[in-house]
Amino acid sequence: MNVYDSRRMADALAAAGFQPTEDAREADCIILNTCHIREKAAEKVYSELGRVRALQAARRKEGKDTVVAVAGCVAQAEGEEMVRRAPVVDLVVGPQAYHHLPALVAQAEAARATPRGRAGIVATDFPPESKFDHLPEETTPAGVSAFLTVQEGCDKFCTFCVVPYTRGAEYSRPAADVLAEARRLVTAGAKEITLLGQNVNAYHGEGAAGSEWGFGRLIRELAEIDGLARIRYTTSHPRDMDDDLIAAHGEVEALMPYLHLPVQAGSDRILRAMNRKHTADDYRRIIDKLRAARPDLAMASDFIVGFPGETDADFEDTMRLVRDVTYAQAYSFKYSARPGTPASTAEEQVPEEAKTQRLAALQALLAEQQAGFNARFLGRTVPVLFDRPGRQPGQLAGRSPWQHAVHATAPADWLNRIVEITVANTGPRGLSSDTREAA
Ligand code: SAH
Ligand code: SF4
Repeated sequence: MNVYDSRRMADALAAAGFQPTEDAREADCIILNTCHIREKAAEKVYSELGRVRALQAARRKEGKDTVVAVAGCVAQAEGEEMVRRAPVVDLVVGPQAYHHLPALVAQAEAARATPRGRAGIVATDFPPESKFDHLPEETTPAGVSAFLTVQEGCDKFCTFCVVPYTRGAEYSRPAADVLAEARRLVTAGAKEITLLGQNVNAYHGEGAAGSEWGFGRLIRELAEIDGLARIRYTTSHPRDMDDDLIAAHGEVEALMPYLHLPVQAGSDRILRAMNRKHTADDYRRIIDKLRAARPDLAMASDFIVGFPGETDADFEDTMRLVRDVTYAQAYSFKYSARPGTPASTAEEQVPEEAKTQRLAALQALLAEQQAGFNARFLGRTVPVLFDRPGRQPGQLAGRSPWQHAVHATAPADWLNRIVEITVANTGPRGLSSDTREAA
């Protein structure tokens, strides 16, 4: 979502005469876009700001001024504290205020031109209006595989998570706006669109004639767009996996057979303490229904190990769930206490060594499953959307429908196209058409 947000910030500032640069030394305005989901995020931003300050000083010697802004969820969470701790920051702007960027940057420039020489603006209130209604149409290229935010924020309040506090309440964009943006992306060259939201399948936007559309309906309408070959979405919540969306996985050809559906843990006791509002068996049943609708569906998930109070037996329940589901890919993390969340003050924090051991065991199992999943593709012909240069000269890289990273020796004109390749090699991280190269 931050990739999408950065692009929309560039769109907003393009209207004020800015354009992106690859070289930070050329920038009249530097925006650090940040994520706050796990710990150390704020520390990384403060250390990066040290480098930005040096850059600003170097530019000053050349008679050039630089506005420094911090955006994203670290900005939202730190607020005033950020301008106090890092005086180099002129502007702290939260994720829901990006449509105000041109005015805020102009205000910062004006403040920097006064004898005080700094701005210290904090824009972290949640505005009553939606930024989506006020951001200009996209001008910054999104590429052949584009992101599109359809939903933002979260009302679920899992006890470990900062999202409801930093991204705010759940909001769905009207379907007409989403469809119009998708058509523009396709006209500009996108063949794949990944629909984004912190809880993307909680989507319930305004549809046609005042009706409300669920996420399944939105996907079916998007699939009608000529030239849009692939639709994906992330991240979804098990509770919002309704029957229409499950059916769409079987019926909509463009909906790719890969689903990231985080479960976090396999123990019902821990799931309850996390406030996930589903059991491990609820999750198993959802996967069964999904696989009945789309037998080749590749599953992915997020896991947290060492949530407060997690015992060895609870962790074994997670391992059992992983064995039952079999994942094609997964992200797993040690629980980290996030300030302001209920779980952060729980008494039974799990010792670091136990977290380390459990994470290693879980990741070994997940890696084995991923390698096994990839190995099944050996010798098969798969369509690949090539969207970037590969590791070696003469190579391109892209994605299979199942979201494998694929490397292939390929002519340059395969870039931005979907081309079928035969898999000659598989490895833990992906597929390759080249027999010599470990994928
Ligand atoms: N909305 C999604 C997840 C969004 S957060 C869902 O409901 O599943 C992305 C991932 O970061 C989460 O799935 C979780 O695994 C991880 N995460 C969030 N907070 C965390 C914390 N305090 N410690 C460790 N991992 C965390
Ligand atoms: Fe965070 Fe996802 Fe839970 Fe919302 S549903 S609080 S985004 S983990």
